[in-house]
Amino acid sequence: MSAPSRSIGSIVQTDRRHVWHPFTQMADWNQTEPLILVRGRGAVLEDIRGREFLDANSSIWTNLHGHGHPAINRALTRQLKQVAHVSMLGFTNEPASLLARELVRMARPTRGPALLQKVFYSDNGSTAMEVALKLAHEHARRARGLKQARFLSLDGAYHGDTVGAVSIGHIDLFHGAFSKLLFPTDKVMSPYCYRCPFNRAKPERADARETRKCGWECISKLEQKFTRAAAAKKPITAFSVEPLMQGAAGMIAQPRGWLKKAAEITRANGALLIADEVMTGFGRTGVGERAAQKKPGTLPLLASHLEQVQPDFVALAKGLTGGYLPMAATLTTDEVYSQFLGKYEDFKTFFHGHSYTGNPLGAAAGLASLELLRSPESEQQRRVLEAAFASNLETLWSCPSVGDVRRVGLVAGIELVRDWRTRKPYPLAERTGIRVCEAMRRRGVLTRPIGSVVVLIPPYCTTVKQLGKMVDALRDSIDEVLGED
Ligand SMILES: *Cc1c(COP(=O)(O)O)cnc(C)c1O
Repeated sequence: MSAPSRSIGSIVQTDRRHVWHPFTQMADWNQTEPLILVRGRGAVLEDIRGREFLDANSSIWTNLHGHGHPAINRALTRQLKQVAHVSMLGFTNEPASLLARELVRMARPTRGPALLQKVFYSDNGSTAMEVALKLAHEHARRARGLKQARFLSLDGAYHGDTVGAVSIGHIDLFHGAFSKLLFPTDKVMSPYCYRCPFNRAKPERADARETRKCGWECISKLEQKFTRAAAAKKPITAFSVEPLMQGAAGMIAQPRGWLKKAAEITRANGALLIADEVMTGFGRTGVGERAAQKKPGTLPLLASHLEQVQPDFVALAKGLTGGYLPMAATLTTDEVYSQFLGKYEDFKTFFHGHSYTGNPLGAAAGLASLELLRSPESEQQRRVLEAAFASNLETLWSCPSVGDVRRVGLVAGIELVRDWRTRKPYPLAERTGIRVCEAMRRRGVLTRPIGSVVVLIPPYCTTVKQLGKMVDALRDSIDEVLGED
């Protein structure tokens, strides 16, 4: 290890003096010694003191194949020798156009016509959603002759932090303060089986989705939303959803079949379906059923595909470059695209874009990442890791403070509660999730909670042994922090 050029103290001081961290209470931040990460290899991150940590959070849900992957590094070096950035306004570049082709291929369903044909690039998940919102709005005006789009999204939805994305978001803690800045949208109950008022099942030591007793009231509520809006002559024109798993809401996993039903209702009501796959895309939600029998290179990479759903928009970001660079894409249909075609003087152009749109470095990383995802080695690795994840997580039910364990593929949320028999939550102010994650850090495992939900989202290169260490660290940390409760 080469010696750091500046002392740790001076790096910390500079950070405290000038950097404002995201989603961070800076008064707390300034009281604690920050972890300065200097190096990454596979699932391991190293700090400036030479201490090693497992990246159980995939660096805020972005990393897929591990840090410092040779194939992505090579692709980036190769592209750097050509050019780092050129504009997509009036020009194009090969990596961005090839990546668009590959994303369209990824979004092709196994059956039926391939609806998603066009790719609009931007830089992050929020902007990918902004693009979908604007396009859906214009589609409502141009194709349906309506004054405006009307959006429906799920309770607890998180689609990013830009103003449009916040408008369809429903996390009061994050979004409440900005309500006056937002346009009105509607929300519907999310299928949160563990805390569903319609779930009549008693808490058990099992995933609430499996033990639930209900009559799919969440689906009836969704149908009602559409019919009532139509009756009031204010039809919902687009429904946005994080398929299979709502991320920032607290890793809320949908019961099997919910997505397919929700998509059918959306279609039946003539609305567009926006799938926010910013977190769920690129294989995060697992290999799907009968994965072992599938031809190499054909495992589904979108959560929507696991329930045979083909949306009108797919927003991609976090994992798009394998977790290397900020790049995003909004996929949409020829039907939406064609609304923007015309003579120049018709001014139907989509007047929207970003300076770094279609960045060739990001696209090169994205292409290399997709190639890795389709390799037999990665597919096998994901199959093995998913099975190991499932069995490791089972061991958490022995902790009395674990209320629910929600896993979809290679992402899981572990909800901590004061009393599992009553599902009594910890008050947010007790910082339960934060304290458990701090204890995990002392055990060499990095992750970040959402309220009282601890997130485990390992990079795909994580070995079964490393995975065991992540789950052990969580279990031991729960015992340490909450054992006396
Ligand atoms: C992270 C996330 C976003 C926002 O992405 P950014 O790149 O942070 O802007 C949007 N939707 C979902 C589902 C996300 O998880």
